[in-house]
Amino acid sequence: MIKLYADYHTHTVYSHGKGNIMENVEAAVEKGLKEICISDHGPGHFSYGVKHSSFKEMREEIDVINKKVTGIKVLLGVEANLTSMDGDIDIREEDKKYLDILLMGYHTAVIPKSIRDAKGLYFDNLWAKISPSVHRKARLNNTRAMINAINKHHIDIITHPGLNITIDTVELAEAAAKSGTALEINSSHGFLTVEYVKAAMKQGVNFVINSDAHNPRDIGNFTKGIQTAQEAGLPVDRIINAVKDWE
Ligand SMILES: [Zn+2]
Ligand SMILES: [Zn+2]
Repeated sequence: MIKLYADYHTHTVYSHGKGNIMENVEAAVEKGLKEICISDHGPGHFSYGVKHSSFKEMREEIDVINKKVTGIKVLLGVEANLTSMDGDIDIREEDKKYLDILLMGYHTAVIPKSIRDAKGLYFDNLWAKISPSVHRKARLNNTRAMINAINKHHIDIITHPGLNITIDTVELAEAAAKSGTALEINSSHGFLTVEYVKAAMKQGVNFVINSDAHNPRDIGNFTKGIQTAQEAGLPVDRIINAVKDWE
């Protein structure tokens, strides 16, 4: 059996979640969690990315909550966006000092670093859906871009690998194992799939199961993620937010 003590991927009104930070924390306490991370969408998202200037405010809000609320640790993270083929993300060095955890994922509707990156990250992935040759090229480029990002930045978690883009999960898992980056089994989107968890776990990478809640009521909702991990036969000691000695 798998029991999780932390939810490291939750959204608030700072991006397009429904609850504020305190409401997310209260929901996590109700679910019996010991840790929660507030990880809104990175600033590069066109319509609802968190503002660079909000990190300081969020940090202060979380520091106050941590003093006030006992029994749970609140962390500040961000779900950064991949913005270039070279592995750039939409987080500045000066933003990092406010963050406890850095998550990164591929999302559409993000401002790319250059025209070349717009083609590689977005147009090619659209064409990849209909052209097998573009699909092959996009898969190589996507995988390389993700690996470049984890080698360039200290990324703790890659969110929903494989969502919206084709990735060589085995190659990504091998690089993530080296950089100490966990691959997320996302309980909202259903990525990673059982098949990919099985392939990735052979590379020695660690995993994390998150809710990706956009509403406080979904925090700690890990049903789908736990099911995937169990079906793949993933050992508990490979899941960073799992209670290790729980039966
Ligand atoms: Zn996401
Ligand atoms: Zn998310």
